[in-house]
Amino acid sequence: MKVLVIGSGGREHAIVWKLRQSPNVDQLFCVPGNAGICEEAECVFGDLKSVDSLVQVASRIQPDMTVVGPELPLSLGVVDEFQRRGLRVFGPTAAAARLESSKIFSKEFMQRHHIPTAHYAICLNEKEIKDALPHFSTPIVVKADGLAAGKGVVIAKTREEAGAVALQMLQGKLVGDAGNRVVLEEFLEGDELSFLAICDGERAIPLAAAQDHKRIGDGDTGPNTGGMGAYSTSDLLDSNMQEWILAHVARPVVQAMKSEGAEYRGVLYCGLMMTARGPMVLEFNCRFGDPETQPILARLDSDLLGAFIASAEGRLSEGDLKWSSDASCCVVMASKGYPETPELGKVIHGLQEADAVTGVKVFHAGTRHTGEAFVTNGGRVLGVTARGSSLRVAVDRAYEAVGKINFDGMQYRRDIAQRGLRGK
Ligand code: AMP
Repeated sequence: MKVLVIGSGGREHAIVWKLRQSPNVDQLFCVPGNAGICEEAECVFGDLKSVDSLVQVASRIQPDMTVVGPELPLSLGVVDEFQRRGLRVFGPTAAAARLESSKIFSKEFMQRHHIPTAHYAICLNEKEIKDALPHFSTPIVVKADGLAAGKGVVIAKTREEAGAVALQMLQGKLVGDAGNRVVLEEFLEGDELSFLAICDGERAIPLAAAQDHKRIGDGDTGPNTGGMGAYSTSDLLDSNMQEWILAHVARPVVQAMKSEGAEYRGVLYCGLMMTARGPMVLEFNCRFGDPETQPILARLDSDLLGAFIASAEGRLSEGDLKWSSDASCCVVMASKGYPETPELGKVIHGLQEADAVTGVKVFHAGTRHTGEAFVTNGGRVLGVTARGSSLRVAVDRAYEAVGKINFDGMQYRRDIAQRGLRGK
């Protein structure tokens, strides 16, 4: 089978790597990919911001199956367009992807269908902000409605700060058009958990649970990033809690989307806060998380292509995904200056040595080739991922591999998976 993967990050490298293991994949393409992906798939030029450009790529390649990684092309309707042309594709339509692309849609949807989430108010102008603020105790969470690449959420300590931030968002000063409409939200306390399920319009099958690390610095300090690392173990989520989340969040979402005429296919990512009142939804994403995908797929023992096809064709079954009892850990290596202004173009040394460590796979995110060398080409550069018989083994292997890699100004966290290790 000819398979096309859309995207260029560590998540897509992990998907490509796993698809390569499928006996049914004969030819693998990626648009646009990165330097690491190009070693394992044929990379083709294309613009992730343009559905037309992606359709042109598919017309040339004629894939039997396409997998969409990032949210932007999903929200622009790449799945709708591929389906219209009779091309089989994994991911939600633009209407289904509104669960991620509009916080307002997702909050109203949850309210309509009694899915547990924080109290909120929608504000379209300054007066609505002023009227809503007295109803919230502090801190107050301010969210831009649209896609903002992780920059659309501010936790304000006072009402004054919340009002000022919300107004700046409305005026387009913080996240551009994504902030044209704003949600004020009750602040929730608890541990965060990412729960991912693969859906086929009718059913939701859970993926292995993962824990990510959003802050740049050790001990969860410094600014938020796209994610500095993640780990996955079989005991991260016990089976009772998994069943509760399936019964009260994932399955109701799939059923309700169907009843509203927007069948949900693809990955449903539920960002949850485990509060004293029980798990509550912070957000939905309509695709795999990055970097959680790297440790999650490192533990998948069954065929990924089969699951993607079953999702696209509406015939998923419980046995489609088989998980190893091994643990896994991914340490992100980022450029100097990330997340604000990453320095690019630094030569990366030691990749082969790192990949040679037992159980390790180095996934590329922001990398490109110049001649023989790999150089940095983004904020997050690599996701050094290891699998092992225990979390301790996986973490030690990942850091052994990290120790073999070197580029100017590299930064990474030294405490990935510490919470999981302390729990042992
Ligand atoms: P979101 O994009 O909505 O997941 O928000 C990004 C991050 O902001 C989450 O991962 C949380 O750490 C935090 N956050 C979002 N909503 C809330 C909330 N209602 N209460 C507390 N923290 C929140």
